[in-house]
Amino acid sequence: MFDQSRRKIARWLTLSMGSILVIFAGAIYYRWVVEHLVQADHLLYRKARVMAANIDYEFRQGEDVLDLSYVPFLGQYSPPLNSEIVYARWYSSEKQLHQFYGLQPPNSLEANAAFETVPLGSEKLRQLTLPVVDRERVIGYLQVAMPLTPTQLELRDFLRVLVLAVPLTLALISLTSWFLAGLAMKPIRQAYYQLQRFTSDASHELRAPLAAVLSNAQVGLLAPIEDSKAKHQRLDKIADIAKAMNLLVSNLLFLARQAGRLPSESIQQVNLNNLLSETVGSQTIQSTCQALKLQIEVPNSPVTVQGNPDLLHQALLNLLTNACKYTPTGGTIWVRLVSLYHCHVIQVEDTGIGIPADDLPHIFNRFYRVDQNRTRATGGTGLGLAIAQQIVEAHGGRLTVASEVDKGSLFQIELPL
Ligand code: ADP
Repeated sequence: MFDQSRRKIARWLTLSMGSILVIFAGAIYYRWVVEHLVQADHLLYRKARVMAANIDYEFRQGEDVLDLSYVPFLGQYSPPLNSEIVYARWYSSEKQLHQFYGLQPPNSLEANAAFETVPLGSEKLRQLTLPVVDRERVIGYLQVAMPLTPTQLELRDFLRVLVLAVPLTLALISLTSWFLAGLAMKPIRQAYYQLQRFTSDASHELRAPLAAVLSNAQVGLLAPIEDSKAKHQRLDKIADIAKAMNLLVSNLLFLARQAGRLPSESIQQVNLNNLLSETVGSQTIQSTCQALKLQIEVPNSPVTVQGNPDLLHQALLNLLTNACKYTPTGGTIWVRLVSLYHCHVIQVEDTGIGIPADDLPHIFNRFYRVDQNRTRATGGTGLGLAIAQQIVEAHGGRLTVASEVDKGSLFQIELPL
């Protein structure tokens, strides 16, 4: 599925970028052709103007007196050796051939436009037909032509470069597209596998208590009708399992709903000093930590952040509950609030059983438990730390841990100022 999508993205990217490239190359080629033709025309026009300027013309006693002897190519002087002019022709005002240099021309003027491209064997010539005017009267037509070969050669070279460069660039584009499509698919693939793992973990977590509910119900049904005590015990067990399932489902719902950044309407100023005191003094913590020493260290001045007080309370509650659960009787738990120059820090430290180094990178994963046996004894779902981390990250903060087996753990929440 992912490879197919990757191929599709790469194909579309190549197609769209390739079309842009081809259009771009075509436009460049067109501009190049036009520019070179305009240059050739300018040169031809300048040469024709010089020739026309050398025509000696007079209108004497009602008659045209024309002298072309000083006109280059048409006059008495031999043409310059390095000249590019292929032919030059003079036609009278009645368009009849009068004088010429170069190829034998037709006797009357046949040109349709001022500038024309005319074939000559395998070559092409650029021809200019210029009407020469004296005192608003056309006295004749000057026709000159130059070969287009140098321009054609340049254009051919340019086309050759384009023909080589375009497929090469297309190949490069398709490689880059393939690579980029791979990059784009990476987070999608990761999210997909995460979701798959999460779904299978969640189903697995729900299957075990459901099986327990079923077996308790079956055993209860097998008991004689008059044995109400046995039935009561089974119902008690079912109720306990249902409570645990309820907690698990609520946690799962919480994780699903609180994904991503906080909505702005749920953000307000939170006094962290009060939040810490309220959480530590809550009924849940006081009852779980009865056999432990709980110490709270907060600064005298109030420390505030922008956030959601209920969610922050939940995150802190999860860390504190864990500290109470995993610290043996007589141990100590510290809850600290420190304000640094770049962030506010909340620390929950305990003298509990600690977490092995191998498990530390995974303990924030959903459903991860360090040791199934010790969790079973404390009744955890493996979602408490994942929820705390999600809440802290939704506030733009960071949740970190340092721990040593049999010495204790230190969980630290860093919240931006
Ligand atoms: P649980 O509900 O199982 O406690 P958590 O996500 O809260 O799930 O914790 C994941 C695992 O990390 C726990 O199973 C536990 O083994 C370990 N853990 C969390 N906090 C502590 C702590 N303060 N001391 C020792 N182990 C801890």
